Amino acid sequence: MVMSVAAPQAKGKYAEDNIFGANNRANALAEKIGVDNVINGTVGSILDEEGQLVMLHVVQEAYKALTPKEIVAYAPIQGYPDYLEAVIDQCFGQSRPNGYIQACATSGGSGVLHHIIHNYSEWGDDILTSDWHWGAYGSMCADNGRKLREFELIDKNGRFNFENFKEHVRDMVSKQYNTVIIMNSPANNPTGFALSSADWDQVIVFLKDVVKGQDKNIILVPDVAYLDYSGEKQECRKFFKKFGNLPENIFVIVAYTCSKGFTMYGQRMGAMICVTPNKDIADEFVAINQYTSRATWSNSNSAAMKSMVNICKDPAKVAELDAERAVYFKLIKERADIFMKEAQHCGLKYLPYLSGFFITIPMTEAQRVCDELEREHIFLVPLKKGVRLAVCSVSKKKIAGLAAKIKGAVDSV
Ligand code: PLP
Repeated sequence: MVMSVAAPQAKGKYAEDNIFGANNRANALAEKIGVDNVINGTVGSILDEEGQLVMLHVVQEAYKALTPKEIVAYAPIQGYPDYLEAVIDQCFGQSRPNGYIQACATSGGSGVLHHIIHNYSEWGDDILTSDWHWGAYGSMCADNGRKLREFELIDKNGRFNFENFKEHVRDMVSKQYNTVIIMNSPANNPTGFALSSADWDQVIVFLKDVVKGQDKNIILVPDVAYLDYSGEKQECRKFFKKFGNLPENIFVIVAYTCSKGFTMYGQRMGAMICVTPNKDIADEFVAINQYTSRATWSNSNSAAMKSMVNICKDPAKVAELDAERAVYFKLIKERADIFMKEAQHCGLKYLPYLSGFFITIPMTEAQRVCDELEREHIFLVPLKKGVRLAVCSVSKKKIAGLAAKIKGAVDSV
């Protein structure tokens, strides 16, 4: 028996590390046999064609321009007012929905999700998301005494599985006061799938109907972590408009993060942004989430907020930011296109990918396939129902031929 002094509810917890574990093994092998001989498709950050972690140039410059005070000062708990304005603008672009919009600074997108689970669901509640989802959602729910429940994201025709979504929501609404729905779209992690404009329309019509006339709420959480690499800037933001003019018992909280769009991953900067037709609900949002920030991490990273503001208040720098993002959006797309073309050619099935950092190959023997690939110095992430390839971090040269190697491994196990 391993000794433990943890409180009963904390016993047996451990950080699941199949992503960082595979990444560590890939890096150790690269040290030994050379980077060129290893394919590391585990990393959820943009690496350039030389395998270097990308920090956008305009962001580097903004960091260099910070004063000591801007770096070390305690920021207001809610976040600097100009940061809050900047995130709302960065998030919605020209598609700002009608209604009361408020924002609170958080520790990345993870901080948003933590606060929503903590403040908008009850102990023991289910939280709904899709079967294909970012693994951290499960830990965030479990660590807060909630249970992550999954609907099937994609139907057998490769479309949004609206029928299955409706079934789960109906059941949850019948049992719970609040139904929290985390919808990671566009550029879903791990599939690259997205709801279409028509999908969002039918989701919203249904949600309005399901809580109509009831003392029950829907908390709809679009997790847009990969928004900035999901398409043309204004086009990929159009769906946000649909969140305006909803009834009071449908509360939208957008999970926004600077991690990917500003390449600030480790800086831990994000924001929760609410949209509601009711001022009281918006004021309550600021009050309860500020309180929870104070009660968890206190205030957010001053340097990250100030450098973000430094860019956003200058139209020339915003143009530079947009241009840099467009370069990496194109690069990731080129990598994904190579992979998908080759996968089709060799008969390797992959889930419908539209944009984003990851492509998923569905299968039942994910762990065994990943073990087999590691023998060929290829490192991918095994999931419950598939294998995840990070097209954000593997160069075009290394992507070429990869689909056939994965197909070989699938056929061999
Ligand atoms: N949501 C999804 C689906 C993600 O994949 C990530 C990061 O990997 C995040 C949110 C937020 O990450 P962070 O807390 O680093 O901003």
